[in-house]
Amino acid sequence: MKTLIDAAEIRQRVHNLGRQISDDYRHKPLTVVSVLTGSLVFVADLVREISTPHRIGVAHASSYRGKTTVPGELKISLSLVPDIRGRDVLIVDDIFDTGQTLKRVVEAFESYSPSSIRTAALLLKEGRSTVEMVPDYFCFRIPNVFVVGYGLDYNDDYRHLPHIAEMEEADL
Ligand code: 5GP
Ligand code: MG
Repeated sequence: MKTLIDAAEIRQRVHNLGRQISDDYRHKPLTVVSVLTGSLVFVADLVREISTPHRIGVAHASSYRGKTTVPGELKISLSLVPDIRGRDVLIVDDIFDTGQTLKRVVEAFESYSPSSIRTAALLLKEGRSTVEMVPDYFCFRIPNVFVVGYGLDYNDDYRHLPHIAEMEEADL
């Protein structure tokens, strides 16, 4: 595996994103929602860079890939999301690939009457989107490669890596 984005670069971008979000949500009732499991590490770092008070919630989305890198059927669960009625929700995922996951998660949230919904992704894969939306915030654009680390997995491994690594054919 080769390192695509090292820990220092991630720290810098997450710091800047936290500042931008702090400015954008000053005096607003913000709830940051982590789309599990992939965004766990990113959100843990991001919320500590957001200086305006906010709440944290989690939602679960999984398109079970098993041993492959091809997504299966998408399942979304909002059972752990706190009350978001009248609040400004920022939904955070690890990576925006085709965009289907974030689009579906946003749709699921709309029925809970938040006052606004925006989205953030750590990574944005170039040239892959099949949806109209783009994330409101993201940290890095990457080429169409399969990446792991900093929360992202391959078959549930490698999430703990402090950097983003590219999986090569030989690793799969
Ligand atoms: P989308 O629905 O945008 O196509 O895919 C988003 C989800 O697919 C992400 O939340 C992530 O779980 C998974 N995914 C997409 N690309 C990658 C990748 O390169 N590496 C890993 N580990 N997961 C990916
Ligand atoms: Mg995911």
